[in-house]
Amino acid sequence: MKKVLVLGGGFAGVEAAIFLRKHDLDVTLVSDRDYFYIYPTSIWIPTGDATREDVSVPLADLAFKHGFELIVDPVTAFDASAKRVTLESGRVLDEYEYIVVALGQDKIQIEGMDHTLSICGKPEEATQMYERLNALVEKGSGKIAMGFGGNPHDSSAVRGGPAFEVLFNVHNFLKKKGLRDKFELTFFAPMEKPGQKMGDKALVMMDKMFAMTDIKKKVGSKIVSFDAEGVNFEDGTKLESDLTMFISAGTGHKILRESGLPLSEAGFVVTDYYNEIEGFEGIYVIGDSVSLMGPEWRAKQGHVAEVMARNVAYNIFQKMQRIDSKQSYEHHLNILCVMDIGNGAAFVYRDNKRGLMIPMPVIGHWMKQGWGWYCKNSKLDKIPRLPGM
Ligand SMILES: Cc1cc2nc3c(=O)[nH]c(=O)nc-3n(C[C@H](O)[C@H](O)[C@H](O)COP(=O)(O)OP(=O)(O)OC[C@H]3O[C@@H](n4cnc5c(N)ncnc54)[C@H](O)[C@@H]3O)c2cc1C
Repeated sequence: MKKVLVLGGGFAGVEAAIFLRKHDLDVTLVSDRDYFYIYPTSIWIPTGDATREDVSVPLADLAFKHGFELIVDPVTAFDASAKRVTLESGRVLDEYEYIVVALGQDKIQIEGMDHTLSICGKPEEATQMYERLNALVEKGSGKIAMGFGGNPHDSSAVRGGPAFEVLFNVHNFLKKKGLRDKFELTFFAPMEKPGQKMGDKALVMMDKMFAMTDIKKKVGSKIVSFDAEGVNFEDGTKLESDLTMFISAGTGHKILRESGLPLSEAGFVVTDYYNEIEGFEGIYVIGDSVSLMGPEWRAKQGHVAEVMARNVAYNIFQKMQRIDSKQSYEHHLNILCVMDIGNGAAFVYRDNKRGLMIPMPVIGHWMKQGWGWYCKNSKLDKIPRLPGM
Protein backbone atom coordinates (compact mmCIF):
# COMPACT_ATOMS: atom_id res chain seq x y z
CA MET A 1 0.00 0.00 0.00
CA LYS A 2 1.45 3.38 -1.02
CA LYS A 3 -0.04 6.77 -0.34
CA VAL A 4 -1.74 8.87 -2.97
CA LEU A 5 -2.98 12.39 -2.24
CA VAL A 6 -5.78 13.80 -4.40
CA LEU A 7 -6.33 17.59 -4.32
CA GLY A 8 -9.90 18.61 -5.24
CA GLY A 9 -13.28 16.90 -4.91
CA GLY A 10 -14.88 17.68 -8.28
CA PHE A 11 -15.43 15.37 -11.29
CA ALA A 12 -11.69 14.75 -11.71
CA GLY A 13 -10.71 14.34 -8.04
CA VAL A 14 -13.65 12.12 -7.04
CA GLU A 15 -13.20 9.84 -10.08
CA ALA A 16 -9.46 9.57 -9.38
CA ALA A 17 -10.07 8.66 -5.72
CA ILE A 18 -12.70 6.05 -6.67
CA PHE A 19 -10.49 4.40 -9.30
CA LEU A 20 -7.32 4.53 -7.18
CA ARG A 21 -9.28 2.70 -4.49
CA LYS A 22 -10.35 0.07 -7.05
CA HIS A 23 -6.61 -0.72 -7.26
CA ASP A 24 -6.62 -1.00 -3.46
CA LEU A 25 -4.30 1.96 -2.98
CA ASP A 26 -4.25 4.10 0.16
CA VAL A 27 -5.91 7.41 -0.88
CA THR A 28 -6.51 10.75 0.85
CA LEU A 29 -8.69 13.40 -0.82
CA VAL A 30 -8.54 17.09 0.17
CA SER A 31 -11.40 19.44 -0.67
CA ASP A 32 -12.38 22.97 0.30
CA ARG A 33 -16.07 21.98 0.41
CA ASP A 34 -17.68 18.91 1.93
CA TYR A 35 -19.70 17.90 -1.13
CA PHE A 36 -19.19 16.89 -4.76
CA TYR A 37 -21.14 19.36 -6.91
CA ILE A 38 -22.66 18.15 -10.21
CA TYR A 39 -22.30 21.33 -12.31
CA PRO A 40 -24.15 20.03 -15.41
CA THR A 41 -27.45 19.64 -13.51
CA SER A 42 -27.00 22.84 -11.46
CA ILE A 43 -28.51 24.71 -14.45
CA TRP A 44 -31.96 24.00 -12.95
CA ILE A 45 -31.24 25.79 -9.66
CA PRO A 46 -31.98 29.37 -10.91
CA THR A 47 -35.52 28.40 -11.96
CA GLY A 48 -36.20 26.43 -8.76
CA ASP A 49 -36.34 23.05 -10.52
CA ALA A 50 -33.45 21.79 -8.38
CA THR A 51 -31.72 22.75 -5.15
CA ARG A 52 -28.05 22.69 -4.26
CA GLU A 53 -28.67 19.48 -2.27
CA ASP A 54 -30.31 17.81 -5.32
CA VAL A 55 -27.15 18.27 -7.38
CA SER A 56 -24.60 17.37 -4.70
CA VAL A 57 -23.24 14.22 -3.10
CA PRO A 58 -21.67 14.49 0.38
CA LEU A 59 -17.96 13.70 0.05
CA ALA A 60 -18.14 11.85 3.38
CA ASP A 61 -20.59 9.37 1.81
CA LEU A 62 -18.25 8.83 -1.16
CA ALA A 63 -15.25 8.45 1.18
CA PHE A 64 -17.12 5.90 3.31
CA LYS A 65 -18.36 3.91 0.31
CA HIS A 66 -15.01 3.73 -1.48
CA GLY A 67 -12.73 3.71 1.55
CA PHE A 68 -10.63 6.84 1.04
CA GLU A 69 -9.66 9.33 3.71
CA LEU A 70 -11.29 12.76 3.42
CA ILE A 71 -9.88 16.07 4.63
CA VAL A 72 -12.17 19.12 4.26
CA ASP A 73 -9.71 21.99 4.53
CA PRO A 74 -8.78 24.33 1.65
CA VAL A 75 -5.32 24.01 0.09
CA THR A 76 -3.52 27.34 0.56
CA ALA A 77 -0.14 26.41 -0.96
CA PHE A 78 1.40 23.64 -3.02
CA ASP A 79 5.14 23.30 -3.49
CA ALA A 80 5.36 20.83 -6.36
CA SER A 81 9.10 20.04 -6.23
CA ALA A 82 8.93 19.37 -2.47
CA LYS A 83 5.57 17.53 -2.84
CA ARG A 84 4.35 19.67 0.06
CA VAL A 85 0.74 20.82 0.49
CA THR A 86 -0.29 23.40 3.09
CA LEU A 87 -3.90 23.61 4.24
CA GLU A 88 -5.83 26.59 5.64
CA SER A 89 -5.73 25.08 9.13
CA GLY A 90 -1.94 25.16 9.00
CA ARG A 91 -1.68 21.39 8.55
CA VAL A 92 1.12 20.33 6.20
CA LEU A 93 0.87 17.19 4.03
CA ASP A 94 4.30 16.12 2.79
CA GLU A 95 4.44 12.36 3.13
CA TYR A 96 2.75 11.37 -0.14
CA GLU A 97 4.61 9.60 -2.91
CA TYR A 98 1.99 10.44 -5.55
CA ILE A 99 -0.08 13.63 -5.82
CA VAL A 100 -3.03 13.98 -8.20
CA VAL A 101 -3.98 17.64 -8.66
CA ALA A 102 -7.64 18.25 -9.59
CA LEU A 103 -8.36 21.77 -8.31
CA GLY A 104 -10.36 23.00 -11.32
CA GLN A 105 -9.81 26.54 -12.60
CA ASP A 106 -10.23 30.21 -11.70
CA LYS A 107 -12.14 32.79 -13.74
CA ILE A 108 -10.77 35.75 -15.69
CA GLN A 109 -11.71 38.91 -13.78
CA ILE A 110 -13.43 41.81 -15.56
CA GLU A 111 -14.15 45.17 -13.92
CA GLY A 112 -17.41 45.16 -11.98
CA MET A 113 -17.93 41.38 -12.19
CA ASP A 114 -19.30 41.42 -8.64
CA HIS A 115 -22.49 42.84 -10.21
CA THR A 116 -22.95 39.51 -12.02
CA LEU A 117 -23.72 35.94 -10.99
CA SER A 118 -22.36 32.83 -12.68
CA ILE A 119 -23.76 29.33 -13.04
CA CYS A 120 -20.15 28.13 -13.33
CA GLY A 121 -18.83 29.82 -10.19
CA LYS A 122 -19.38 29.08 -6.53
CA PRO A 123 -22.48 26.89 -6.00
CA GLU A 124 -24.02 29.65 -3.82
CA GLU A 125 -24.27 31.88 -6.91
CA ALA A 126 -26.81 29.55 -8.51
CA THR A 127 -29.01 29.87 -5.43
CA GLN A 128 -28.59 33.67 -5.45
CA MET A 129 -29.73 33.65 -9.09
CA TYR A 130 -32.89 31.82 -8.02
CA GLU A 131 -33.57 34.49 -5.37
CA ARG A 132 -32.88 37.39 -7.76
CA LEU A 133 -35.06 35.87 -10.50
CA ASN A 134 -37.93 35.40 -8.06
CA ALA A 135 -37.60 38.99 -6.83
CA LEU A 136 -37.96 40.14 -10.47
CA VAL A 137 -41.00 37.89 -10.94
CA GLU A 138 -42.56 39.50 -7.83
CA LYS A 139 -41.91 42.91 -9.40
CA GLY A 140 -43.64 41.70 -12.57
CA SER A 141 -41.18 42.84 -15.25
CA GLY A 142 -37.50 43.34 -15.98
CA LYS A 143 -34.46 42.94 -18.17
CA ILE A 144 -32.27 39.85 -17.94
CA ALA A 145 -28.90 39.46 -19.68
CA MET A 146 -26.95 36.23 -19.85
CA GLY A 147 -23.69 35.52 -21.60
CA PHE A 148 -20.12 34.34 -21.54
CA GLY A 149 -16.62 35.68 -22.11
CA GLY A 150 -13.56 34.57 -24.10
CA ASN A 151 -9.96 33.75 -23.32
CA PRO A 152 -7.61 34.92 -26.13
CA HIS A 153 -4.90 32.53 -24.85
CA ASP A 154 -6.97 29.35 -24.61
CA SER A 155 -10.23 28.69 -26.43
CA SER A 156 -10.72 25.41 -24.49
CA ALA A 157 -11.32 27.45 -21.32
CA VAL A 158 -14.41 29.16 -22.77
CA ARG A 159 -17.66 27.71 -21.38
CA GLY A 160 -20.78 28.78 -23.26
CA GLY A 161 -23.25 25.87 -23.18
CA PRO A 162 -24.55 26.53 -19.65
CA ALA A 163 -25.33 30.17 -20.56
CA PHE A 164 -27.62 28.96 -23.36
CA GLU A 165 -29.16 26.37 -21.04
CA VAL A 166 -29.97 28.80 -18.22
CA LEU A 167 -31.29 31.39 -20.67
CA PHE A 168 -33.71 28.96 -22.37
CA ASN A 169 -34.76 27.56 -18.99
CA VAL A 170 -35.52 31.09 -17.75
CA HIS A 171 -37.50 31.76 -20.97
CA ASN A 172 -39.66 28.67 -20.26
CA PHE A 173 -39.94 29.52 -16.56
CA LEU A 174 -41.31 33.00 -17.38
CA LYS A 175 -43.60 31.59 -20.07
CA LYS A 176 -45.13 29.16 -17.57
CA LYS A 177 -45.77 32.07 -15.22
CA GLY A 178 -47.48 33.99 -18.05
CA LEU A 179 -44.89 36.76 -17.72
CA ARG A 180 -42.60 36.20 -20.71
CA ASP A 181 -43.85 39.29 -22.57
CA LYS A 182 -43.02 41.46 -19.54
CA PHE A 183 -39.33 40.52 -19.66
CA GLU A 184 -36.56 41.36 -22.10
CA LEU A 185 -34.07 38.50 -22.41
CA THR A 186 -30.72 39.12 -24.09
CA PHE A 187 -27.78 36.84 -24.80
CA PHE A 188 -24.33 38.49 -24.99
CA ALA A 189 -20.78 37.42 -25.84
CA PRO A 190 -17.70 39.23 -27.20
CA MET A 191 -17.02 36.87 -30.12
CA GLU A 192 -18.70 37.21 -33.54
CA LYS A 193 -19.89 33.60 -33.54
CA PRO A 194 -20.37 32.40 -29.97
CA GLY A 195 -20.91 28.65 -29.75
CA GLN A 196 -18.91 27.95 -32.92
CA LYS A 197 -17.06 25.15 -31.10
CA MET A 198 -20.22 23.08 -31.40
CA GLY A 199 -19.97 23.29 -35.22
CA ASP A 200 -21.64 25.31 -38.00
CA LYS A 201 -24.96 23.41 -37.91
CA ALA A 202 -25.29 24.19 -34.22
CA LEU A 203 -24.82 27.91 -34.87
CA VAL A 204 -27.68 27.96 -37.39
CA MET A 205 -29.90 26.07 -34.95
CA MET A 206 -29.03 28.40 -32.05
CA ASP A 207 -30.03 31.42 -34.17
CA LYS A 208 -33.36 29.77 -34.98
CA MET A 209 -33.94 29.08 -31.30
CA PHE A 210 -33.17 32.69 -30.34
CA ALA A 211 -35.64 33.90 -32.98
CA MET A 212 -38.36 31.44 -31.85
CA THR A 213 -38.00 32.44 -28.20
CA ASP A 214 -37.63 36.19 -28.84
CA ILE A 215 -34.25 36.29 -27.14
CA LYS A 216 -32.17 39.26 -28.33
CA LYS A 217 -28.46 39.01 -29.14
CA LYS A 218 -25.55 41.33 -28.49
CA VAL A 219 -22.35 39.79 -29.89
CA GLY A 220 -19.06 40.81 -31.49
CA SER A 221 -17.87 43.52 -29.13
CA LYS A 222 -15.47 43.16 -26.19
CA ILE A 223 -16.99 43.37 -22.70
CA VAL A 224 -15.33 46.30 -20.93
CA SER A 225 -17.09 46.25 -17.56
CA PHE A 226 -20.23 45.47 -15.59
CA ASP A 227 -22.15 47.73 -13.23
CA ALA A 228 -25.43 47.68 -11.33
CA GLU A 229 -27.29 48.78 -14.49
CA GLY A 230 -25.84 46.20 -16.90
CA VAL A 231 -22.99 45.42 -19.30
CA ASN A 232 -20.66 47.94 -21.01
CA PHE A 233 -19.08 47.07 -24.37
CA GLU A 234 -16.00 48.37 -26.20
CA ASP A 235 -18.17 49.72 -29.05
CA GLY A 236 -19.61 52.21 -26.53
CA THR A 237 -22.98 50.53 -26.14
CA LYS A 238 -24.60 49.45 -22.90
CA LEU A 239 -26.86 46.45 -22.39
CA GLU A 240 -29.26 47.35 -19.59
CA SER A 241 -29.99 44.57 -17.18
CA ASP A 242 -31.66 43.98 -13.80
CA LEU A 243 -30.08 40.53 -13.52
CA THR A 244 -26.83 39.67 -15.28
CA MET A 245 -25.56 36.10 -15.52
CA PHE A 246 -21.99 36.00 -16.82
CA ILE A 247 -19.72 32.99 -17.28
CA SER A 248 -16.23 34.39 -17.43
CA ALA A 249 -13.71 32.23 -19.29
CA GLY A 250 -11.37 30.08 -17.22
CA THR A 251 -7.79 30.77 -16.27
CA GLY A 252 -5.29 28.78 -14.20
CA HIS A 253 -6.01 28.07 -10.52
CA LYS A 254 -4.15 30.54 -8.27
CA ILE A 255 -2.62 27.77 -6.10
CA LEU A 256 -1.12 26.18 -9.21
CA ARG A 257 0.20 29.49 -10.52
CA GLU A 258 2.45 29.60 -7.46
CA SER A 259 3.27 25.86 -7.34
CA GLY A 260 6.36 25.85 -9.54
CA LEU A 261 4.63 23.63 -12.13
CA PRO A 262 5.06 24.58 -15.83
CA LEU A 263 2.16 26.72 -17.03
CA SER A 264 0.63 27.67 -20.38
CA GLU A 265 0.13 31.32 -21.30
CA ALA A 266 -3.42 31.02 -19.93
CA GLY A 267 -2.12 29.70 -16.59
CA PHE A 268 -3.05 26.02 -16.98
CA VAL A 269 -0.59 23.25 -16.09
CA VAL A 270 1.32 21.83 -19.04
CA THR A 271 1.17 18.01 -19.01
CA ASP A 272 1.53 15.30 -21.63
CA TYR A 273 -1.40 13.12 -22.78
CA TYR A 274 -0.75 10.85 -19.75
CA ASN A 275 -1.23 13.85 -17.41
CA GLU A 276 2.40 13.65 -16.30
CA ILE A 277 4.60 16.72 -15.98
CA GLU A 278 8.17 16.76 -17.21
CA GLY A 279 10.59 17.01 -14.30
CA PHE A 280 7.92 16.33 -11.63
CA GLU A 281 7.97 12.59 -10.92
CA GLY A 282 4.86 11.33 -9.12
CA ILE A 283 2.75 14.45 -9.76
CA TYR A 284 -0.25 14.29 -12.10
CA VAL A 285 -2.62 17.12 -13.02
CA ILE A 286 -6.10 16.31 -14.35
CA GLY A 287 -9.42 17.94 -15.29
CA ASP A 288 -9.98 21.66 -15.77
CA SER A 289 -6.57 22.51 -14.22
CA VAL A 290 -4.79 21.09 -17.29
CA SER A 291 -3.70 22.97 -20.41
CA LEU A 292 -5.79 20.78 -22.71
CA MET A 293 -4.01 19.62 -25.86
CA GLY A 294 -5.76 18.70 -29.11
CA PRO A 295 -7.84 20.30 -31.88
CA GLU A 296 -9.01 23.93 -31.88
CA TRP A 297 -12.60 22.98 -30.92
CA ARG A 298 -11.51 21.03 -27.79
CA ALA A 299 -13.31 21.99 -24.56
CA LYS A 300 -12.75 21.40 -20.87
CA GLN A 301 -15.53 18.98 -19.98
CA GLY A 302 -16.50 16.73 -17.11
CA HIS A 303 -16.31 13.52 -19.12
CA VAL A 304 -12.77 14.38 -20.28
CA ALA A 305 -11.83 15.12 -16.65
CA GLU A 306 -13.11 11.67 -15.70
CA VAL A 307 -11.18 9.94 -18.50
CA MET A 308 -8.00 11.66 -17.28
CA ALA A 309 -8.78 10.54 -13.71
CA ARG A 310 -9.30 6.89 -14.64
CA ASN A 311 -6.13 6.94 -16.78
CA VAL A 312 -4.06 8.39 -13.97
CA ALA A 313 -5.36 5.78 -11.49
CA TYR A 314 -4.30 3.10 -13.98
CA ASN A 315 -0.95 4.75 -14.76
CA ILE A 316 -0.03 5.13 -11.07
CA PHE A 317 -0.92 1.52 -10.35
CA GLN A 318 1.16 0.26 -13.31
CA LYS A 319 4.08 2.47 -12.32
CA MET A 320 4.03 1.13 -8.75
CA GLN A 321 4.35 -2.38 -10.18
CA ARG A 322 7.07 -1.25 -12.60
CA ILE A 323 4.92 -2.23 -15.58
CA ASP A 324 5.49 -0.08 -18.65
CA SER A 325 1.88 0.57 -19.64
CA LYS A 326 0.10 3.94 -19.71
CA GLN A 327 -3.25 5.32 -20.87
CA SER A 328 -3.63 8.66 -22.64
CA TYR A 329 -6.58 11.04 -23.07
CA GLU A 330 -5.61 11.89 -26.67
CA HIS A 331 -8.24 9.72 -28.38
CA HIS A 332 -11.01 10.55 -25.92
CA LEU A 333 -11.39 14.19 -26.85
CA ASN A 334 -14.85 15.18 -28.03
CA ILE A 335 -17.58 17.60 -27.05
CA LEU A 336 -20.54 15.71 -25.65
CA CYS A 337 -23.48 17.24 -23.86
CA VAL A 338 -27.23 17.30 -23.66
CA MET A 339 -28.04 21.01 -23.80
CA ASP A 340 -31.22 21.47 -21.81
CA ILE A 341 -33.85 24.10 -22.60
CA GLY A 342 -36.35 23.35 -19.83
CA ASN A 343 -38.98 21.58 -21.95
CA GLY A 344 -36.60 19.56 -24.12
CA ALA A 345 -32.96 19.51 -25.07
CA ALA A 346 -30.47 19.26 -27.91
CA PHE A 347 -27.87 16.52 -28.15
CA VAL A 348 -24.54 18.16 -28.98
CA TYR A 349 -21.58 16.16 -30.29
CA ARG A 350 -18.34 17.31 -31.87
CA ASP A 351 -15.24 15.40 -32.91
CA ASN A 352 -12.65 15.73 -35.68
CA LYS A 353 -15.07 14.37 -38.29
CA ARG A 354 -18.42 15.93 -37.45
CA GLY A 355 -20.41 18.45 -35.46
CA LEU A 356 -23.96 17.40 -34.55
CA MET A 357 -26.82 19.16 -32.82
CA ILE A 358 -29.93 16.99 -32.70
CA PRO A 359 -33.13 18.45 -31.21
CA MET A 360 -34.78 16.17 -28.64
CA PRO A 361 -38.10 17.75 -27.61
CA VAL A 362 -39.35 16.64 -24.15
CA ILE A 363 -37.32 13.40 -23.99
CA GLY A 364 -33.99 15.28 -23.98
CA HIS A 365 -34.96 17.04 -20.75
CA TRP A 366 -35.80 13.72 -19.09
CA MET A 367 -32.58 12.16 -20.40
CA LYS A 368 -30.54 14.88 -18.72
CA GLN A 369 -32.49 14.44 -15.48
CA GLY A 370 -31.87 10.70 -15.74
CA TRP A 371 -28.15 11.30 -16.20
CA GLY A 372 -28.11 13.44 -13.01
CA TRP A 373 -29.71 10.57 -11.09
CA TYR A 374 -27.27 8.09 -12.64
CA CYS A 375 -24.28 10.31 -11.82
CA LYS A 376 -25.16 10.48 -8.10
CA ASN A 377 -26.15 6.86 -7.63
CA SER A 378 -23.41 5.26 -9.70
CA LYS A 379 -20.72 7.24 -7.88
CA LEU A 380 -22.14 5.92 -4.62
CA ASP A 381 -22.10 2.39 -6.11
CA LYS A 382 -25.88 2.11 -5.60
CA ILE A 383 -26.23 1.17 -9.28
CA PRO A 384 -23.65 -0.32 -11.68
CA ARG A 385 -21.47 1.97 -13.80
CA LEU A 386 -22.15 1.96 -17.55
CA PRO A 387 -18.92 1.46 -19.55
CA GLY A 388 -17.16 4.80 -20.16
CA MET A 389 -19.65 6.82 -18.07
C1 LIG B 1 -22.95 24.82 -15.40
C2 LIG B 1 -22.00 23.82 -16.00
C3 LIG B 1 -22.49 22.85 -16.86
C4 LIG B 1 -21.62 21.90 -17.41
N1 LIG B 1 -22.11 20.95 -18.24
C5 LIG B 1 -21.30 19.95 -18.69
C6 LIG B 1 -21.80 18.88 -19.49
O1 LIG B 1 -23.00 18.85 -19.83
N2 LIG B 1 -20.95 17.90 -19.88
C7 LIG B 1 -19.62 17.90 -19.51
O2 LIG B 1 -18.88 16.97 -19.85
N3 LIG B 1 -19.12 18.92 -18.78
C8 LIG B 1 -19.91 19.93 -18.36
N4 LIG B 1 -19.40 20.96 -17.62
C9 LIG B 1 -17.95 21.01 -17.34
C10 LIG B 1 -17.58 20.17 -16.13
O3 LIG B 1 -18.43 20.44 -15.04
C11 LIG B 1 -16.14 20.48 -15.74
O4 LIG B 1 -15.31 20.21 -16.84
C12 LIG B 1 -15.73 19.65 -14.56
O5 LIG B 1 -16.43 20.10 -13.41
C13 LIG B 1 -14.24 19.70 -14.32
O6 LIG B 1 -13.94 18.89 -13.22
P1 LIG B 1 -12.71 19.25 -12.26
O7 LIG B 1 -12.77 18.25 -11.16
O8 LIG B 1 -11.48 19.41 -13.04
O9 LIG B 1 -13.07 20.71 -11.68
P2 LIG B 1 -14.22 21.10 -10.66
O10 LIG B 1 -15.46 20.34 -10.91
O11 LIG B 1 -14.28 22.58 -10.70
O12 LIG B 1 -13.64 20.63 -9.27
C14 LIG B 1 -12.59 21.26 -8.61
C15 LIG B 1 -12.70 20.91 -7.15
O13 LIG B 1 -11.58 21.44 -6.43
C16 LIG B 1 -12.05 22.05 -5.26
N5 LIG B 1 -11.09 23.13 -4.91
C17 LIG B 1 -10.88 24.27 -5.57
N6 LIG B 1 -9.96 25.01 -4.93
C18 LIG B 1 -9.59 24.29 -3.84
C19 LIG B 1 -8.65 24.52 -2.79
N7 LIG B 1 -7.94 25.63 -2.72
N8 LIG B 1 -8.52 23.56 -1.85
C20 LIG B 1 -9.24 22.40 -1.89
N9 LIG B 1 -10.13 22.15 -2.86
C21 LIG B 1 -10.30 23.08 -3.82
C22 LIG B 1 -13.45 22.59 -5.59
O14 LIG B 1 -14.25 22.70 -4.46
C23 LIG B 1 -13.97 21.50 -6.52
O15 LIG B 1 -14.64 20.50 -5.81
C24 LIG B 1 -20.25 21.94 -17.09
C25 LIG B 1 -19.75 22.93 -16.24
C26 LIG B 1 -20.60 23.86 -15.70
C27 LIG B 1 -20.03 24.90 -14.77
